[in-house]
Amino acid sequence: MLPDPRQLPTGSSPTGSSPTGSPSTPLLPPTSHLRPGITSTEPGQGQGQGQGSCHPLPRSLSPSKIATFKDCPLSFKFSYIDGLKEAPSIHAVKGTLVHRALERLFWELPAGQRSLERACGFAESELNAMTEDDPDLDALELDDSRLATLLRQSKTLIDGYFHLEDPDTIYSAGIEMALEADIGGTRLRGIIDRLDMNGDGNLTITDYKTGRAPSSKFERARFHGVNMYALLCEEVIGIRPAKVQLLYLQQPCVLSMEPSDQAIRAIRKNISALWNAVVKACDGGGFLPRISGLCGWCGFKDLCPAYNGASPTTVTSTTPAAGRVAAGTPAAGTATHNSIPAIPTTPTGSAITAGC
Ligand code: SF4
Repeated sequence: MLPDPRQLPTGSSPTGSSPTGSPSTPLLPPTSHLRPGITSTEPGQGQGQGQGSCHPLPRSLSPSKIATFKDCPLSFKFSYIDGLKEAPSIHAVKGTLVHRALERLFWELPAGQRSLERACGFAESELNAMTEDDPDLDALELDDSRLATLLRQSKTLIDGYFHLEDPDTIYSAGIEMALEADIGGTRLRGIIDRLDMNGDGNLTITDYKTGRAPSSKFERARFHGVNMYALLCEEVIGIRPAKVQLLYLQQPCVLSMEPSDQAIRAIRKNISALWNAVVKACDGGGFLPRISGLCGWCGFKDLCPAYNGASPTTVTSTTPAAGRVAAGTPAAGTATHNSIPAIPTTPTGSAITAGC
């Protein structure tokens, strides 16, 4: 039996209905300035100090938290334990703008009226609204010329979307759906960009991507997060989506996959393993820096003991496996045992049905 869209979880709405609140209502409280480029986002978000804990446990995991922990446990600590926020970037603001425009396209317009022109109009009005009250955009201090460039690039991404699918043919059962479930004792939360119901009653999860599509080598790893959404759907709605798809608007191209039993089982195990690693780190195991190519984009580099405010070349090893340095150890790091369990990043058992 199909789910009644009116009974879908918070944040969802059948297409065309009037929103009862902002679909993009942030889950986090407003931020306050802490230091240049770093702001506090979730002060005291933890469940409180567990017995003997050195750090409060986060209340829940999400696909982005899990990805951050796997990439670098210390970065996870900065973001989700200490409540620091990386400096805003033009790429993040552009992503927000495009997501909001596509969100409104489905939320406010019925099938038959979802045109490129209307979507670009939403982008313009969203950018105007953001110039009034968006702290991230404000912090970028863009002049009129750069704002115009931001809008033009956003419209190009929206145009890319229209090359991928015809929105008038889609029945969206939910937009910006906030889902939350207990997965083997771990609280998992996620927000799905769009949940579609096909003519045959099957569900499809759609995730918009405004960054570059991955090379074929990393395609499968990109499904890790979206397969967690499939698991959340199964837990909350009682139906596993037949398909998950990533729409890369820049290329543009689509990657899609059918979440198999094997993939969902692997996701469940990964979540438990990851949560155990987080608990261990909070209980005194420590959050170790994990040096990788991602450090170049890390907003916490100035705080990172692996860099000590100096060139990365001062660190003895820059390979992810050997370059993990104990938190608190100033540069010239001694590679130490890290607390990340061997967690496969590739859900197996599902075929990618389209490539970029
Ligand atoms: S600079 Fe690199 S090692 Fe340090 S916190 Fe950031 S991602 Fe982790």
